Amino acid sequence: MTTTDHLDALPGPAPRRRTRQARIAWGDHVVRVGGNAPVVVQSMTNTDTVDAIATAIQIKELAQAGSEIVRITVNTPEAARAVAAIREQLDRMGVNTPLVGDFHYNGHKLLSQFPDCAQALSKYRINPGNLGAGRKRDDNFAQMIEAACRHGKVVRIGVNWGSLDQDLMARMLDDNQARERPLPVSTVMREALVHSALASAARAEELGLPGDAIVLSCKVSHVQDLISVYRDLAGRSDYPLHLGLTEAGMGSKGIVASTAALAVLLQEGIGDTIRISLTPEPGGDRTREVVVAQEILQTMGFRAFTPMVVACPGCGRTSSTFFQELADSIQSYLRRQMPLWRERYPGVENLSVAVMGCVVNGPGESKHADIGISLPGTGELPAAPVFVDGQRTVTLKGEAIAQEFQNIVEDYVHRRFGAPASDTSHSV
Ligand code: SF4
Repeated sequence: MTTTDHLDALPGPAPRRRTRQARIAWGDHVVRVGGNAPVVVQSMTNTDTVDAIATAIQIKELAQAGSEIVRITVNTPEAARAVAAIREQLDRMGVNTPLVGDFHYNGHKLLSQFPDCAQALSKYRINPGNLGAGRKRDDNFAQMIEAACRHGKVVRIGVNWGSLDQDLMARMLDDNQARERPLPVSTVMREALVHSALASAARAEELGLPGDAIVLSCKVSHVQDLISVYRDLAGRSDYPLHLGLTEAGMGSKGIVASTAALAVLLQEGIGDTIRISLTPEPGGDRTREVVVAQEILQTMGFRAFTPMVVACPGCGRTSSTFFQELADSIQSYLRRQMPLWRERYPGVENLSVAVMGCVVNGPGESKHADIGISLPGTGELPAAPVFVDGQRTVTLKGEAIAQEFQNIVEDYVHRRFGAPASDTSHSV
């Protein structure tokens, strides 16, 4: 046995779980969820859907940030009436992102009374816990499934433990109490979530909805519960799964909790589309949830969306904040360029850039990246060597380091990913 034989055994992600594939389409544009498709990023607006212009603008922003499907609230007749106008506005703006209608309580009525809304949406989210009770609930569910069949749309059966079917939960708790050794209530609740999703999916198929037009989700707000519920769901069905930690929260807490839960499941091959349910800071940018979703998938190596910047945390060896500012400005610059670069420079999303604070790890990390810069730490000569494809190419000095480094990055992108024959607009 050699000293490296054990490396063969290093774990990677488990193979993706085999699922059916749902096709979520608008016109010729099709987003595939499940099967062998890459994990899809989606998001949800927080505008009033009645304000068609504001909603269309936010959808466009989310789509430009990389949201491949966008969900909108459809809660009133006025909102349902606005959906077709939103779709038309998006079509006029050249945004073909499929829209999902989020229905609770009255979706059966809205989909029946507003066929333009039913047609303009590409997918309906149905929450089985918010459809009424008893016979009424079954009828309302059937009406929504019939609308999906009539318009040829995909349905997400989206169970949420904040609105779990109370009849079902009560029945399962009673059954549990009758057991010789009752299970913990939390276990019964997790089973109720999974049961609600699977039973609703089975009922939808009985009503005529094709099995490949169904996506499932069971959202909860605690990490361990989410992992447990989705493992169970994945083991008991082959529908594509929409992953998300509901009510994840604000700022770093929301990001960390979502990442902790989703990373475990994605690593196990579970999950076909994801949404990060972040509460925005007041005045915050809704596209943050899209960026976080992309960063989870990209840092785990599942997909690439935008060039990544490797930056050191800084320490006592560098007292200046210059390298932090440079790392931030380069990352922002790369993200801003992506809508254009995605079209013009295929493959550019795999670019890696390093911005390092001093000589300790700066040159080494910079050599590992496609392009890297090692800024001077405290006491070092005020010079910043730049490395391109592992080779030191130039040393930057003076006030214009940031702009000059950005020019080098842009020039590299053009040379490596550009198609020179058809592109004459480059100006570096
Ligand atoms: S590269 Fe230098 S400045 Fe950055 S963390 Fe390491 S020692 Fe500190």
